[in-house]
Amino acid sequence: MAFDYDLFVIGGGSGGVRAARVAAGEAGAKVALAESSRYGGTCVIRGCVPKKLMVFASEYAPAIADARAYGWEIEAKGFDWPAFRGHLEAELDRLEGVYRKLLSNSGVQTFDQRARLADPHTVELADGTRKTARHILIATGGWPVKPEMQNADLAITSNEVFHLDNLPKSMLIVGGGYIACEFAGIFNGLGVEVTQYYRGAQILRGFDDEARGLVSEEMQQAGVDLHLGTNVIGMERRDGGIWIKATNGTEKVFDQVLFATGRAPNTADMGLEEAGVTLGRRGEIVVDGYSQTSVPSVYAIGDVTDRMNLTPVAIREGMAFVETVFRGNPTPVDHECVPTAIFTQPEMGTVGLSEEEARDRGPIEVYCTSFKPMQTAFAGRPDRVLMKLVVCAETRRVLGCHIVAPGAGEMIQLAGIAVKMGATKEDFDRTVAVHPTMSEEIVTMRAPVRRG
Ligand SMILES: Cc1cc2nc3c(=O)[nH]c(=O)nc-3n(C[C@H](O)[C@H](O)[C@H](O)COP(=O)(O)OP(=O)(O)OC[C@H]3O[C@@H](n4cnc5c(N)ncnc54)[C@H](O)[C@@H]3O)c2cc1C
Repeated sequence: MAFDYDLFVIGGGSGGVRAARVAAGEAGAKVALAESSRYGGTCVIRGCVPKKLMVFASEYAPAIADARAYGWEIEAKGFDWPAFRGHLEAELDRLEGVYRKLLSNSGVQTFDQRARLADPHTVELADGTRKTARHILIATGGWPVKPEMQNADLAITSNEVFHLDNLPKSMLIVGGGYIACEFAGIFNGLGVEVTQYYRGAQILRGFDDEARGLVSEEMQQAGVDLHLGTNVIGMERRDGGIWIKATNGTEKVFDQVLFATGRAPNTADMGLEEAGVTLGRRGEIVVDGYSQTSVPSVYAIGDVTDRMNLTPVAIREGMAFVETVFRGNPTPVDHECVPTAIFTQPEMGTVGLSEEEARDRGPIEVYCTSFKPMQTAFAGRPDRVLMKLVVCAETRRVLGCHIVAPGAGEMIQLAGIAVKMGATKEDFDRTVAVHPTMSEEIVTMRAPVRRG
């Protein structure tokens, strides 16, 4: 049977764009892609990129204070949100243009509209046109979900947070995951009074306990009013703001409320189940190690599969899909030892197993140090950093590396190579320290602080 395309990709985010352009540009396939919103997807338009730019913006507040301690005569007049937002929006427009160009330069035909599956080889576009393809790749990502409660629509999500008309005076952030914590640090740095409610016992569930404990302490020390074991039970528009009643009995009016309470895969009304594609309990597309769904001609990558929801992982999954389907080289996606950063203030970088996960698997040694780094200590700040290695007591392999420090994201990218290669504690020890740095501690920790 002759198809219109070799590949039809639904979704022009991190995973979809990479798969489409590599399949067309390098593997020579005839490829089309449909995008219902803006090219670049969550990462570029409403995720990693605008968020990181806001992190940078917010870090100038302590940096300006530190500069004075270093002898600079400096006076900051305040933060101009509309000026920053204009600059941010222009940058996102530029990046979207880059993504469009990447696709057209690779020969990918694009459709600026929503698409759904009509059958295992047919995509139906919003205008009713149907296109057939030998393979269909679903890369529709995810979307923030608000808790089901009355007046939840008064709150914003991470989608709207980049486009606020004004910077609020006070803000409640609900959630304890990395997105909630990152925005708590951002708005705190920008001078907003930030309150954070999280229903769990500690923020950043799933990460190393000691590392997330330090992030939590440092966030509070920096000014975030964090309430653990606390959730919202009522909200109304009142007194020119949003009145919130919480499980801890408090009632307070905030200028803005941000729900960062989770994300759900974009699979609704996509024709997936009708075509025979199996969905999981959270609505995610179920795939095998090669990103193939229960329908052999349909593959899915990225957040819509809810495996490891990170941009570089979506990209890897897209590359592995092209390698498997268009280059005859079956390539499973490797989700082991993925280094990642949380852009809280302080930042956290992590790769491999947490101490708790590692202990469940066998005997370990834990090497850990926490100290006041030179740069901020000199400026009189009490900030602490943490460097931690979790080591297998039998093989001596470093199973996990956890860093809480300014620049931890940059550090963990490099430490991640060693951990991924299977480096032992002795390999770390044989490496000469770079002095004076914070990360030199990672190669100079002599005695374990715990065995278990
Ligand atoms: C606030 C925030 C911060 C983040 N920070 C980081 C970070 O620091 N580091 C990191 O690695 N990851 C981060 N992420 C996660 C990262 O953005 C995602 O993992 C990544 O974008 C997933 O890529 P994707 O291709 O699966 O989906 P997406 O990038 O979400 O792209 C999906 C695209 O499909 C389109 N689409 C949906 N349905 C249809 C349809 N029916 N037809 C046509 N098009 C459709 C959407 O409009 C979207 O453009 C962050 C996410 C958020 C929300």
